[in-house]
Amino acid sequence: MDRILVLLHTDADGVLSKTALEVLSAANALGGEFVVGLCGRDVQAAADSIAGCGASRLLAVSGDTFGESRYATDAAAAEALCRAAGAGLILAPASVRWARALPGVAHRLAGVIDTHVTSISMEDGAPRVGRWYYRQRIEAALTRTKRPWIVVLESGCAPAWQGEAGRVVLESVEVANAATRTRVLGVHSPKANEQTIRPDAALLFVAGAGWTKKQADGQPHVDVAGELILGFLRNSAASLGSSKSLVDLSGEGQAVLPFLTHMNQVGQTGSTPRHPKGLATCCHGEEPHVVGWRFINDRRAVNLDANCGWARGKADVVYVADAFAVMARVNEILKTRSAAT
Ligand SMILES: Cc1cc2nc3c(=O)[nH]c(=O)nc-3n(C[C@H](O)[C@H](O)[C@H](O)COP(=O)(O)OP(=O)(O)OC[C@H]3O[C@@H](n4cnc5c(N)ncnc54)[C@H](O)[C@@H]3O)c2cc1C
Repeated sequence: MDRILVLLHTDADGVLSKTALEVLSAANALGGEFVVGLCGRDVQAAADSIAGCGASRLLAVSGDTFGESRYATDAAAAEALCRAAGAGLILAPASVRWARALPGVAHRLAGVIDTHVTSISMEDGAPRVGRWYYRQRIEAALTRTKRPWIVVLESGCAPAWQGEAGRVVLESVEVANAATRTRVLGVHSPKANEQTIRPDAALLFVAGAGWTKKQADGQPHVDVAGELILGFLRNSAASLGSSKSLVDLSGEGQAVLPFLTHMNQVGQTGSTPRHPKGLATCCHGEEPHVVGWRFINDRRAVNLDANCGWARGKADVVYVADAFAVMARVNEILKTRSAAT
């Protein structure tokens, strides 16, 4: 059995992300002994929050140098933690920090790495990981003999670990040669109300090109569409996805919804988000788009066309209706509900 290290870092506010806790659950489910390695400015509170996780040791690299995301220090910290743990199998969350630093760490350790892993289990005493290929069309189960083996797990693949907090004693790990020549001056991030991609949302709301098309009165109503969509996102905290046709319109200089970018595009040449539910509006449901819905469990669509792609076995429920009218009514209901609470 491999010696297992769960490699985590704290977020800017000193806590562990949901994805980090998911990796902890995945490690627990393997059934063996494991060590946790933490990296961050001050990791004591984060370590205390997972006191009951069952780790045999908690190693830490901490200090101001490791508070921010920087390749050189992240890679040096991860390498030091892996060496201190003497681990053969290293599990890490697919965070921006680790996704950038860990491939280099695998090289430094003369090991191997698999990213975008969606499951891990033990088969006959050997770890086996699941991963999708060719735009989520082929699912593979694979194992490796080379060690150390770093496995970077995608978010949403395991339940987040929940358990007792307590007071733990951390083993401090020294990091040699953590180059700090790159200075982190600050972080630019969109304002909270401009952030439409929410990986943890319970619902994916997809807007299609129909929102910009001429409607029953012979006119497009893009402004109304924008208000309805943003109103729904505000009231529901859903994540916003888009079809390719809709985001391509902005590149073609047409009247568009300004809050949509190619980052929102779901599908074959877009993303494959994970949400329990999805609602597609004014989107035809063509295969190159629907392939991005692989991990959406409950699928619904609103379309004027009873013969659209969604109606051909791609959705659980299709509402043959005008999405402008449906979403206006849904927003009214949500507003009344939030006013009542
Ligand atoms: C190689 C390749 C890769 C591709 N990759 C992607 C990808 O990653 N993602 C992607 O999305 N597409 C992708 N496509 C494009 C894809 O095939 C479709 O062209 C695209 O998804 C269509 O977008 P749409 O459904 O929003 O627009 P349309 O096909 O124009 O459909 C608009 C829909 O809106 C409906 N509608 C209009 N008004 C209303 C209303 N008031 N109420 C309700 N419904 C209304 C219409 O009935 C229609 O069904 C790819 C294509 C190729 C060839």
